[in-house]
Amino acid sequence: MLQNSVRHQLFIDNKQTPAASGESIQVVDPSDGQVFAQIARGGAADIDRAVGAARRASVGAWGVMTAVERGRVLRRWADLVAAAGDELAHLESRDTGKPMRQARADATAFARYFEYYAGAADKLHGQTIPYQNGYTVMTIREPHGVTGHIIPWNYPMQIFGRSVGAALAAGNACVVKPAEDACLSLLRAAELGAQAGLPPGALNVVTGLGPEAGQALAEHPGIDHISFTGSPDTGRRVAQAAAGHHCPVTLELGGKSPQIVFADADLEATLPVLVNAIIQNCGQTCSAGSRVLIERAAWDQVLAQLAERFAALRAGPASQDLDLGPLISERQRQRVRDFLAEARDSGLELAGQGTIVADAPPLGFYEPPALLASVPSASRLFQEEIFGPVLVATAFDDEAQALALANDSPYGLVAGVWTRDGARQMRMARGIRTGQVFVNNYGAGGGVELPFGGVKHSGYGREKGFEALYGFTTLKTIALRHD
Ligand code: ADP
Repeated sequence: MLQNSVRHQLFIDNKQTPAASGESIQVVDPSDGQVFAQIARGGAADIDRAVGAARRASVGAWGVMTAVERGRVLRRWADLVAAAGDELAHLESRDTGKPMRQARADATAFARYFEYYAGAADKLHGQTIPYQNGYTVMTIREPHGVTGHIIPWNYPMQIFGRSVGAALAAGNACVVKPAEDACLSLLRAAELGAQAGLPPGALNVVTGLGPEAGQALAEHPGIDHISFTGSPDTGRRVAQAAAGHHCPVTLELGGKSPQIVFADADLEATLPVLVNAIIQNCGQTCSAGSRVLIERAAWDQVLAQLAERFAALRAGPASQDLDLGPLISERQRQRVRDFLAEARDSGLELAGQGTIVADAPPLGFYEPPALLASVPSASRLFQEEIFGPVLVATAFDDEAQALALANDSPYGLVAGVWTRDGARQMRMARGIRTGQVFVNNYGAGGGVELPFGGVKHSGYGREKGFEALYGFTTLKTIALRHD
């Protein structure tokens, strides 16, 4: 069991082990700004050790397991994670500052990823291809070997689940570098993985700083595939490092996702979803619905109702389970404040704002949610991912303009379309350049089964769903001549 007072170690070869440096990193509770734990500061030597362990597993005990056996291990892991759901949710809530019910939902999704990929492990088929007479040609899906996983701090459990779950199901052995800001739930989950039957080396977790452990992982020639979720700049650095040894990369780099509200939408159903899509996890969500585009005929009504809902929102400590917790760090709060200062300086209208509860600890990283109205598309607030509880609203006159505004973004991760008109639903869904489009809903409740990923600066490759298994495998074609 992890204890708050413990100095957490690395997890390599199913054993807790100190970092070669002997150094540690302080873990801060965003709700009160206080240090409550320490993690090991892993570096290049530890990554090298973890890659070695993973390689041995990939050609040894893990590599020789049948797909059905791998599935059974994942299934047991899913059950152990579900049983430890409350403990994992508490760890993640304290580590990230997210309200408890959100952390609980993440723990549930975490178990569900392992369950989903447990069932998928023995259903990854190749094909046979008609060819010349005298040949039988077949394709088989093989694991890459050792996969690297660089995880961000916003949803550690969910992103670990979708990425490591799929990679293991496909037969890879994994080296994980969680974010330095939030990794305690993952260290605990790794222990549960060993308990579920993962052989030593199949899963290794090396905590540490991005430019040290993260960079060492991306550069390591023993890594056969890297899956990265995080910011576009770091994603570029990871892809460049991986290119040094021609290592394939999957990048999920966030977004500035539009929610498009037509005047004929069912507003009662739309409004709570619009608000939730930006305040969930304090706006620190890759797929946050951070731009709302509103048809001019409904502008006054939608804006007034959104403003009313924003005014009722309360931010406070994760343990109070309010609408919002704190941001992850002082650095992240400052980033959000810089954007809000720019909005003020450029005369943008603050149409609605929530509050911070009076008893919130003064050193916590709180920022009330803000609704900004009539934000021009050229504004940095419309174009850039803020990664905080800031919703920008912009009006449009017709479908063509809605589409142009939605696509006027360097990103392309997710979009929401709200209208009762069936033909328009389809025209919009086809016209929007994103990896996912939701019609009259947003996010489909998490959607473990739904392929997820972006276009443009949101990245490439797909995680989640069955599709992810293709990314974690390589295709071999075998042509057999028998005439
Ligand atoms: P943020 O700046 O919001 O922390 P990042 O995209 O930098 O977001 O972080 C996502 C993940 O990438 C974290 O695990 C972080 O430690 C890691 N990381 C940061 N810098 C690097 C780097 N140069 N190489 C590899 N990983 C990195």
